[in-house]
Amino acid sequence: MSTYRAPIADIMGALDVADLDALLRLPQFKHVDRATVHAALAEFGRFVTEQIAPTDMLGDIRGSVFDPVTGSVAVPDEFHQAYRGLVEGGWTSLAFPSEWGGDGLPGLVGIAIQEMLASANVSLSLNPTLTQSAVELLLVSGSENQKRRFLPHMMTGAWSGTMDLTEPGAGSDLGEIRTVAEPDGDRWRVTGTKVFITWGDHNLNENIIHLVLARTPGAPPDSRGLSIFLVPKHLVDDVGQVGDRNTVTCLRVERKVGLHASPTCVLEFDKATAELVGPLHGGMHTMFTMMNVARLAIAVQGPSIGEVAYQQALDYAHTRRQGKSASAADSDRSLIVKHPDVQRMLLTMRVLTLASRLLVYLAAGYRDRARYEIDANDRALAQEYLALLTPVAKAWATGTGVQIASLGIQVMGGIGYVEESGMAQRWRDSRIGPIYEGTNGIQAIDLVTRKIPHRDGAPPPD
Ligand SMILES: Cc1cc2nc3c(=O)[nH]c(=O)nc-3n(C[C@H](O)[C@H](O)[C@H](O)COP(=O)(O)OP(=O)(O)OC[C@H]3O[C@@H](n4cnc5c(N)ncnc54)[C@H](O)[C@@H]3O)c2cc1C
Repeated sequence: MSTYRAPIADIMGALDVADLDALLRLPQFKHVDRATVHAALAEFGRFVTEQIAPTDMLGDIRGSVFDPVTGSVAVPDEFHQAYRGLVEGGWTSLAFPSEWGGDGLPGLVGIAIQEMLASANVSLSLNPTLTQSAVELLLVSGSENQKRRFLPHMMTGAWSGTMDLTEPGAGSDLGEIRTVAEPDGDRWRVTGTKVFITWGDHNLNENIIHLVLARTPGAPPDSRGLSIFLVPKHLVDDVGQVGDRNTVTCLRVERKVGLHASPTCVLEFDKATAELVGPLHGGMHTMFTMMNVARLAIAVQGPSIGEVAYQQALDYAHTRRQGKSASAADSDRSLIVKHPDVQRMLLTMRVLTLASRLLVYLAAGYRDRARYEIDANDRALAQEYLALLTPVAKAWATGTGVQIASLGIQVMGGIGYVEESGMAQRWRDSRIGPIYEGTNGIQAIDLVTRKIPHRDGAPPPD
């Protein structure tokens, strides 16, 4: 049951807290004005409400299905048309540089797009989220040849991307990665098993581009010995044409608490043809480009799910009658929204959603500034704020998302706990936020041991 209404006014308010107008004055964004941003967000809000949100509960019920005979993964049928709308509307490339076919809008606006998409269907949203993170990595670290062959297809959403870090023995501690990459002429061969790979295999895109952390022969045994390899599901020739199937196979799709329609895959790489991305043994540094982009994209799932849970709980509270509020006439049963305890829960949901949105958008604004401020000192300062805010935004917004969804169940009472209401899905879908993209415990360690000591505990200057 979807009741999502895109909260454009609240989102514009959050963009203002992140100082959208100042961002639009930077030379990089001189072709964009506030009215364009507002119009794009309003149009996207209409699109996701009408075309994406109706696929959300269907996706949860049907899930993405693995066929053990063919080794293929099928997403719910309804996703194909919904995704086509996303691609044909050009929404996946809105915040990418125009030189590669994007619209060149600030990444801050891209975060607002991500928020609305995840409110409408968080499982589906993870496909473009991972692809966009992979695009960022290739923009920063890919060779000109790689950019030319892969970026146009990935930016348009024709091909998807994945981030392949986790292994059975290597979760938070990536230094334990055992996947190997061996040189083979001008290419590499990747062998190993990766687990929990989001959208690791599926039938939604023509090709899937895996960015895999692996160790080369003789490399240091810890995280300093890792490099990134690009492994396409289907090989790609010199002009970007798709060819034969590569030797990467999906062994299983995980059954899990939530995100049923997002295929979480165990992938086996068997001497798969691969290309090095970025410097040899520079894998962790290169992958952090992708992980930091993904961290804010995951952070925004907090307010995404919070918003839709709040709207749904509020709607229910305006229709359900139980008991009598203090102000009700003797003969009336009251709407539950009249009870102070229900109001307390709804207001808590509302303020936590607003606050977590502001925090994530603030960080996203600093990310644009760190790239595009004219003055090098301003760029460095913005980078410092971004580094400080990223673990806070990721951990607080995702933890808060779970709390808001849980309150949504409480507002609805027993029916909230029943799957038919849809609120239970919000709670299940939100639960992964504090786990993936570095657990919230790891974010806390990053904040306390790396970010806060940077100026001996003092904040960066205003
Ligand atoms: C649905 C889903 C999708 C995912 N998608 C992807 C993906 O696309 N790509 C990918 O590579 N991975 C993906 N992952 C993996 C995810 O990033 C890991 O699950 C996560 O990093 C935690 O690793 P782990 O599960 O091995 O837990 P562990 O590392 O075993 O951690 C277990 C517990 O110990 C704590 N802990 C671990 N080390 C420390 C420490 N040094 N100090 C304090 N506490 C510590 C953790 O915080 C946690 O509470 C996904 C996982 C899921 C469930």
